[in-house]
Amino acid sequence: MLNFTVGPVMSSETVRAVGAEQVPYFRTAEFSALMKENEALVKEFAGAEENARVAFITGSGTASMESVIMNVLTPRDRALVVDGGSFGHRFVELLELHEIPHTVIKLPHGTALREERLKEFEGQGYTAFVVNTHETSTGVLYDMPMISAFCKRNGCLFIADSISAFLADPFDMKELGVDIMITGSQKALACPPGISLIVLSERSIRRVEENRCKCMYLDLNLALENGERGQTPFTPAVGILRQIHTRLLEIKEHGGAEAEIRRTGNLAQYFRNRLAEEKLPFEIVSEAMSNAVTPLRPLTASAYDIFLTMKDEYGIWICPNGGEMRDTVFRVGHIGDLKEEDYDVLIDAFLDMRKRGLL
Ligand SMILES: *Cc1c(COP(=O)(O)O)cnc(C)c1O
Repeated sequence: MLNFTVGPVMSSETVRAVGAEQVPYFRTAEFSALMKENEALVKEFAGAEENARVAFITGSGTASMESVIMNVLTPRDRALVVDGGSFGHRFVELLELHEIPHTVIKLPHGTALREERLKEFEGQGYTAFVVNTHETSTGVLYDMPMISAFCKRNGCLFIADSISAFLADPFDMKELGVDIMITGSQKALACPPGISLIVLSERSIRRVEENRCKCMYLDLNLALENGERGQTPFTPAVGILRQIHTRLLEIKEHGGAEAEIRRTGNLAQYFRNRLAEEKLPFEIVSEAMSNAVTPLRPLTASAYDIFLTMKDEYGIWICPNGGEMRDTVFRVGHIGDLKEEDYDVLIDAFLDMRKRGLL
């Protein structure tokens, strides 16, 4: 199997080996120590401030998105939310569901958020800014330093869903003044799905403490309290947390977040260069790309048909899109345990499809 989707992605051999082990009982000093190490490494890789904390949630990324909306924001807030694709739209739905007053900044698919667009929201009393660092569905990486400056000028709490950007694109919580960063186990962490995590600044921890969350399972106060001793309130996905630990140590050993981001960026560049060299009939559709993924519009065939042929006839997974973009856009991911040679295999498959008249 060769998997270029954006999650679940390919895991390294060492991470898979941990997945094959028996899952241990977890109310132990050993597991607590492992969790404290997980927290320290995530904070280091996210560029979090010293007093930041990490909550490990059993549930996919959306569980952490919902937990953040429920624990950090209240009906007294006024949030600005960027909706440039399906993940931005998910935040809009969560804000609606939890009755948080908000204004939507809707962007056509594939377009960047620009300074001019933000102007009309200056000095309007917004209290929070909610954005996906990288809108994975369309492959648009937002200008985080620009949003950071807006948040600082306007005193907004800065909530960044970096689920697909963490470890793929440069990101420093302290430098950007990000209060909440969310990520998940199945993206660049390259582990199985099932765990998502939330890094909270001191300022956002205070908010969590002041608010009362009307959900037991996603209550961040409980998560943070238990986390002080390296534990979780309920039985977590123990096996995945052990795999995350192995993966974090692996990244640390190979030079940390910076090296991992560089590696991912090089892979993305390699693939994009080869696409251009071979003159494949695809067009890049994003105005501002992340290292995590290349979003492509095929000019001669349906995106979904290409996905199916690749999967069924070549054993290669590229990432299809849902909804309106089903037939127009597919994506090629660069996160996970991939090498340049893997992209050669993918390019060869595209060339073969072209020879067969399928492209
Ligand atoms: C993958 C992803 C999510 C989370 O989706 P889940 O399926 O719940 O893990 C959220 N936001 C972004 C930007 C993502 O890439």
